[in-house]
Amino acid sequence: MKASILLLPGDGIGPEVVAAAEQILRAVGARFAHDFTLQSAHIGGAALRRGLPPLPDETLKAARAADAVLLGAVGDPEFDKGDSSRRPEAALLAIRKALGLYANLRPARVWTGLEAAGPLKPDVLAGTDMLVVRELTGGLYYGEPRGIDADGGSAVNTMRYSRGEVERIARHAFEAARARRNRVTSVDKANVLEVSRLWRAVVTEVAHGYPDVELTHMLVDACAMKIALAPSSFDVILTENLFGDILSDEAGAIVGSLGLLPSASLGEGPGLFEPVHGSAPDIAGKNIANPVGAIASAAMLLRHALTLETEASAVEQAIAWTLSTGMGTRDISQRAAHTTEVTAMIESALQP
Ligand code: NAD
Repeated sequence: MKASILLLPGDGIGPEVVAAAEQILRAVGARFAHDFTLQSAHIGGAALRRGLPPLPDETLKAARAADAVLLGAVGDPEFDKGDSSRRPEAALLAIRKALGLYANLRPARVWTGLEAAGPLKPDVLAGTDMLVVRELTGGLYYGEPRGIDADGGSAVNTMRYSRGEVERIARHAFEAARARRNRVTSVDKANVLEVSRLWRAVVTEVAHGYPDVELTHMLVDACAMKIALAPSSFDVILTENLFGDILSDEAGAIVGSLGLLPSASLGEGPGLFEPVHGSAPDIAGKNIANPVGAIASAAMLLRHALTLETEASAVEQAIAWTLSTGMGTRDISQRAAHTTEVTAMIESALQP
């Protein structure tokens, strides 16, 4: 197939991990006979340093024209004191909004060989492989009215969801479950919140269109506890913006290093794929950043943006095999291999 992919390396370790993902995408193109066009553009501090805004018009234009976008990370201490519109991080919210990305997918799985890398007992963590599907553009983070009273005495935020918003994110979760283990846990706070009661009713309706997928409902507090106590019991977790923000971080934290975690944000247009970590200025430029989060994000890009499931699985199997040998950067392995060494091994393990 022919596909155009826009690479946005960004700041700090962003360029290092995007180079790793690019190497794997080129190898997929060559080994599976696809014609991928890979182009790069500036974002974040890398754009500011060139006298451009954090999300330059050219970059947004290129993103809209691409089939998918792969982002490294943004954030640079050099710009921390600037006003908020001139901070690298402003580019993230701007690109998510401009591309209408309303569905955020964050898988958290334990890779064989890394059962002891997280904070849980290895036998509790074993077999963990969940996907958090989070609504990204509604709920408490965007609802109106919002604000702090003039006298500073009280403040308000509004949690609001429409049926349409719940339906479209629910469909993402059910479709994702069909490609996994056919189970969706919808998380809400229906014992207290009216919004959650609407959420629960709409998700139940959507479930009727997916009789092959088993739906259960869970309260958010119970879910937070169960992720820590029995993480392997989950397949797909479907939830709204605020709950998803918190639960996806919890799910990520239990499987080990931040450097392992990929994400996808999907909407009407091209999807945005990025590792969960930031620009990690403390380790930038040293060739020691873990490239797995970015490479696993490239696998998600192949799966969700290009519907190349075989190729996505091949990349994930190459990662799995590499990590199972004990190979890894210093955040996960005593081998303390370089970014480029880990990437080379993943590339050599990639098989059609
Ligand atoms: P961070 O994720 O950059 O780093 C947190 C810790 O994890 C650091 O010790 C870092 O060395 C380590 N780490 C992160 N990624 C790693 C990897 N791939 N391999 C090995 N170790 C890794 O978070 P932070 O330090 O809070 O933020 C640094 C900058 O990144 C800030 O400017 C922040 O605003 C920005 N940020 C950007 C994003 C994004 O682009 N999506 C997300 C979070 C933070």
